[in-house]
Amino acid sequence: MTRTQAEKLVERLKSACIFNRFDEPGVYMEYVRALARYDYDRMEEAIDAAIEDDSRNVPPISALIKKYRETTESRVNAKNEEYCAVCDDKGFVLMKEKQSDTGLIYEFVLYCPFCPVGRAQAYDGRNISDKGHRSPYYVPPVNKYFSDEGVQALRETNLKRQAKRSEAVRLAKKKLQTVGKSMPEGWQYDMDSELSF
Ligand SMILES: [Zn+2]
Repeated sequence: MTRTQAEKLVERLKSACIFNRFDEPGVYMEYVRALARYDYDRMEEAIDAAIEDDSRNVPPISALIKKYRETTESRVNAKNEEYCAVCDDKGFVLMKEKQSDTGLIYEFVLYCPFCPVGRAQAYDGRNISDKGHRSPYYVPPVNKYFSDEGVQALRETNLKRQAKRSEAVRLAKKKLQTVGKSMPEGWQYDMDSELSF
């Protein structure tokens, strides 16, 4: 983030927390310098979370950085509550496109805007708040290239795939049950183990 943005965040801390040491020499500058090394939006989120925990005392810089890492991690570890058939819960779709003129095949990644995992993976280098780190790279969403029908086709393909997977699990369980019935009381056949000798 820029210095002005860092100052804005420190001002936020100053007005939110009753107890602060920002009037002591060097403290204000120390915070500005430390926060400026991070991304503005994410640090703002971290500060919100820290204030929610304790709105009286200004958290030490180390605590803010810890919060920053935690909020970043929770983005990385985003999970889908419900199965997302568009991307098969991966958050992205890999597509291949054959160029009609050169015949070359290009592979590219599209993120899935239909689920939390996908939205956590949206990357747009052009919108990074820190101007110095802006880049022309970005991952476009699936529906930028696919119409509703295309997205629906992806959904159907993955639902079929998912059905096959659960069918395989069901068959394996059934097999285990049949084995179990003919086993003496108390015995169980361990299908997953491998012989180690
Ligand atoms: Zn998805």
